[in-house]
Amino acid sequence: MSRPTLLSGWGRTAPTAAHVVRPRTLEQAAEALAQAGPRGALARGLGRSYGDAAQAAGGLVLDCTELTGPPRLDTERQEVTAPAGTSLERIIAHLLRRGYFVPVTPGTGHVTLGGAIAADVHGKNHHADSSIGAHVRALTLLTPAGEVHRLGPDGGDTELFWATVGGMGLTGVVTEATIGVHPVETAYARVDTDRTRDLDSTLELMARTDHAYRYTVCWVDLLARGGSLGRSVLTRAHHARRADLPAPQRRDPLRHRPGAPLAAPPWAPPRLLNRWTVGAFNTAYYNAAPLRRRGQAQPVSGFFHPLDAVQGWNRVYGRHGFVQYQFVVPFGEEDVLRAVAEGLAGAGAPSFLAVLKRMGEPTPGPLSFPRPGWTLALDLPADLPGLARLLNGFDERVLSAGGRLYLAKDSRARPETVHAMYPGLSAWRATRARVDPGGVLVSDLARRLELV
Ligand SMILES: Cc1cc2nc3c(=O)[nH]c(=O)nc-3n(C[C@H](O)[C@H](O)[C@H](O)COP(=O)(O)OP(=O)(O)OC[C@H]3O[C@@H](n4cnc5c(N)ncnc54)[C@H](O)[C@@H]3O)c2cc1C
Repeated sequence: MSRPTLLSGWGRTAPTAAHVVRPRTLEQAAEALAQAGPRGALARGLGRSYGDAAQAAGGLVLDCTELTGPPRLDTERQEVTAPAGTSLERIIAHLLRRGYFVPVTPGTGHVTLGGAIAADVHGKNHHADSSIGAHVRALTLLTPAGEVHRLGPDGGDTELFWATVGGMGLTGVVTEATIGVHPVETAYARVDTDRTRDLDSTLELMARTDHAYRYTVCWVDLLARGGSLGRSVLTRAHHARRADLPAPQRRDPLRHRPGAPLAAPPWAPPRLLNRWTVGAFNTAYYNAAPLRRRGQAQPVSGFFHPLDAVQGWNRVYGRHGFVQYQFVVPFGEEDVLRAVAEGLAGAGAPSFLAVLKRMGEPTPGPLSFPRPGWTLALDLPADLPGLARLLNGFDERVLSAGGRLYLAKDSRARPETVHAMYPGLSAWRATRARVDPGGVLVSDLARRLELV
């Protein structure tokens, strides 16, 4: 067996060592799983979950990124099938050339199809189209006993299907999946931008007008002072039609060529991101945004995956890494958003990537995160003094408002908090126990949060 490799999540906070294998086929994945030792086994994708979800200290990690191949588009059924280690970036490139698009994409294309299903990821269109689980038509699941289950949302073992969607890799290895797709005329989004002056006007504008757009996202300045706290840049869009494009782009409307990413510096000085540097960045970003602009054609890569333009941007937080904090609270619980914004501002916590969205219909996945309501996601340096106390306090507000944290982002919550936030946990455990009675599948996240 190979020497252990140190693995971490995108936030680089708690690396642990595991033996890593790279299966190329379902058979190789089954062979690997059969060799799992007492410290268990886990599938891993592109490691874009922020915390410890794709790590298994001392165990066997099946890096699924070589479980890949050309996506197969079926235009009649409007669906695409791909091996689970295929990246969404590759699937999107394949589809766009043929005039189709994925139903849901998270804020980066550097995730695998399997990782996206395991986290039941949401995109800028959750309020309109739900999360990716709502569009999975079929998946193949390999369990530690070597059984292969072909699962879908209708008929058969739907409990196992929904335990896998959002199940964070703890029901087996997804080796292939089929998802619905939809036709597009161009590889561009037609984007409207608005700048708002404070949190209340942001919430009001989103609540009043978001439903008119398929995609919406809002960047919030959580370091602005006084009455400007929560001022925002709101971008909302539809897929552009050919007629929406300026003449030069209209000639080749499906051209999709994301530029080569710039590399972030490999090293960042300690405390590069502090309330002054981030405050200055936020002010510059806010001021550079138009007050109101309509109908700008943006390439889909820039609109959906702006951070992918900078390779390894997670290193700017320095060697201690960073924590991503994402929660959802029901509509009507806007006071939690205000309390979090004020708590962060009061603590001088430098968050330059704070993103607010409205969520719509959930999927039935017991561990799936999205619920109707407001979701706020923000990045904070992991070595910020007082961070644990600050976030524990937010957790309590979120929980008492009937909200929850996102497991794919978490690296620090307490088990009892998460158990209370996910009332479907015991039903999920029962389904999981059917296919993994020996408890082979495990992750650092599952151990820390006592999920299994
Ligand atoms: C810049 C950035 C933006 C993001 N934006 C969003 C967003 O807008 N919305 C959102 O929902 N998420 C977002 N995320 C989070 C990301 O989409 C999820 O964490 C996703 O799960 C990462 O996929 P991955 O392939 O990197 O999986 P990994 O991080 O490697 O693994 C994540 C989980 O999936 C499991 N898994 C991976 N592959 C398989 C498989 N083949 N079979 C079974 N289980 C598997 C792992 O065991 C683990 O539990 C973002 C992340 C980044 C870095």
